Amino acid sequence: QVKEKGRGDFCFFATEMNQRLLERRALEADLRRALGEGEFRLHYQPQIDLPTGRVIGAEALLRWTCPGRGNVPPDAFIPLAEETGLIAQIGAWTLQEACRQAVTWPEELGVAVNVSAVQFRLPGLYEAVAAALATTGLRPSRLELEITEGVLLRDTDETLAMLDRVRRLGVKIAMDDFGTGYSSLGYLQKFSFDKIKIDRGFIRSLGQNVNSEAIVRAVVGITRSLGVRANAEGVETDDQARLLLAEGCGEVQGYLFGKPMPAEDFRIFFSRQIAA
Ligand code: C2E
Ligand code: MG
Ligand code: MG
Ligand code: MG
Repeated sequence: QVKEKGRGDFCFFATEMNQRLLERRALEADLRRALGEGEFRLHYQPQIDLPTGRVIGAEALLRWTCPGRGNVPPDAFIPLAEETGLIAQIGAWTLQEACRQAVTWPEELGVAVNVSAVQFRLPGLYEAVAAALATTGLRPSRLELEITEGVLLRDTDETLAMLDRVRRLGVKIAMDDFGTGYSSLGYLQKFSFDKIKIDRGFIRSLGQNVNSEAIVRAVVGITRSLGVRANAEGVETDDQARLLLAEGCGEVQGYLFGKPMPAEDFRIFFSRQIAA
């Protein structure tokens, strides 16, 4: 029968690559629905001033609960959101939601939002940042955009002009995952970041690997010379925190201090401090 034959042909061509394409298309379809269906949430990971131990803000991290898939980690869907351009709408939602939350927090707390390289190049980012600030009334200096080195990889003049334009709104710009890119120091020369986040990869082996220790010391030294704030990502142990404090790292983030958590839990987290 024709139907049977069609099925057989399909199986014949359903090579591994084909399977992957189909899976991709299915994920893309789910992703397209997710925003309208309200399947995204933001979690907030506390950012801590290391010398005082006080929370100074949070990084907003995107969480997707897909009915058919459960929790899908950002690393599994952001690349596809970028390829399909969906990241523009998702990113606009993220900015809006993060600002909407942060404006209900005490004035001294900031919020950091990740902006991917593709998002940066798509039209509408400036407008999305401006709109999030305008509609929520968040003081611009309480919003920080975390960009990765990928942002500066291409179209440098245009990108720098865009970074300047966004910063003139009054928001801060942090370099995320510092040290993992291909020309980390070059980017520091080209743009004056407000903060440099030392990649978790260097923090993980602190105290075990003398090279990591030397690198962290050097990076903290560079930030100090530049007058930029340093944030160490992925701090999990007391030893790591002690070493970072000794090196003069101003700010930390990591499971030792707090995992990314729902907005309600972050509220409890900072309320404890205010009560103390
Ligand atoms: P990132 O911006 O470098 O975020 C830090 C990641 O490290 C987060 O993973 C966080 O949960 C994890 N982390 C924090 N502290 C620790 C620790 O002590 N130990 C360990 N093992 N991990 C820790 P997450 O939430 O899975 O996000 C992964 C990446 O996805 C982010 O890396 C960021 O590049 C991207 N991402 C997340 N949310 C967004 C978003 O709203 N927009 C964009 N464009 N990218 C996002
Ligand atoms: Mg980040
Ligand atoms: Mg990072
Ligand atoms: Mg990262």
